Amino acid sequence: MPVVILSIAAAAIRGTAYYMRKRSKLKDGDKDIAKERQREKKIELSRGGSSLPTVVAHILHPEHELYLDFGQTYRCNACLQYGEGKRYRCRGLCGFRVHPNCALSYKMICDLFQTDLQTYAHKYMHPLSIIKDSSDSNCKHCKNKCKDLIRYHCNTCNKMFHLACAVHPTRLLSFLHPNHELELKTRPIDARCNVCYHSGKSNARVYCCKTCKFYVHPDCAIKFQYVKSLIHVDHILVFRPLPSYESAVCKGCNRECKRWRYTCSVCEGVNYHEDCLLRYEIVRSNASLEEVGHLCKRSFVKAFKDGFKDGFKDDFKDDMKEQFHDESVWDLIAQFLEALFS
Ligand SMILES: [Zn+2]
Ligand SMILES: [Zn+2]
Ligand SMILES: [Zn+2]
Ligand SMILES: [Zn+2]
Ligand SMILES: [Zn+2]
Ligand SMILES: [Zn+2]
Ligand SMILES: [Zn+2]
Ligand SMILES: [Zn+2]
Repeated sequence: MPVVILSIAAAAIRGTAYYMRKRSKLKDGDKDIAKERQREKKIELSRGGSSLPTVVAHILHPEHELYLDFGQTYRCNACLQYGEGKRYRCRGLCGFRVHPNCALSYKMICDLFQTDLQTYAHKYMHPLSIIKDSSDSNCKHCKNKCKDLIRYHCNTCNKMFHLACAVHPTRLLSFLHPNHELELKTRPIDARCNVCYHSGKSNARVYCCKTCKFYVHPDCAIKFQYVKSLIHVDHILVFRPLPSYESAVCKGCNRECKRWRYTCSVCEGVNYHEDCLLRYEIVRSNASLEEVGHLCKRSFVKAFKDGFKDGFKDDFKDDMKEQFHDESVWDLIAQFLEALFS
């Protein structure tokens, strides 16, 4: 009997030691990330601090431009969460105000598509290319599974990286948590992703705000905030968190929406699970379940491209072009997504 107990104890100690070894390696890496993050911040400061544009166009308020200013507590018209300080505001009587992250969330998606990307996420700094791949692989930087079909890849080392991890290896600004910067860190053992509710791989990194206990997987962080879908042609659908005191039923499957869902920016009671929105697009397009992962994103790209071409005033276009570096970024994204479904 004592032998059994002893061997169980020994196995437990071995297990713990193994776990600690694995964990400490990633924790050390977290320290390196923190250093890199400071370095990135210094570079930004030396370039003149915040590079937020002073005027933006917004897909939910196409009538007027929005201007960057400061204010007391406000409720954001896009995510419906509260904010303080910097905001984009309509100078008319409309009272339309949004978080900077909710005004620029489309820009983040544009930034994800870069050619020959050299990134801190890959220690050898080999240029990474964007590929379409459905193989079962883990991201080299955060150790989570790559679920999205579109990934960064190092041809030299044959390693995969999430789009988010490659482009934002230390920190992320996202509309999902608009008031604070998210940092990539090893996930605390009991923490769940705020968007998918799963914990995912243990001993892997997630973007987090420690103050608010907000965690999100790198591939769950890539969501389009605004989507134009044929399922609800009249208005833009917005990816929003459901407040804990409210309930919502998905019009696609009649089941409850737990927290994040696409909801109409105008009508009450129009809610769709992300998957139900995608399923609708599958039926419409005849694409396979695997291929359709980005259809929702494609609808967004189209919505924004249309807005960019027709809706916005000319003097805006130059401003927008500057934000996107160059208009051909859109073409790159559109070509890439079209290639997926043709
Ligand atoms: Zn917001
Ligand atoms: Zn207005
Ligand atoms: Zn990753
Ligand atoms: Zn490499
Ligand atoms: Zn997740
Ligand atoms: Zn926070
Ligand atoms: Zn549903
Ligand atoms: Zn509507």
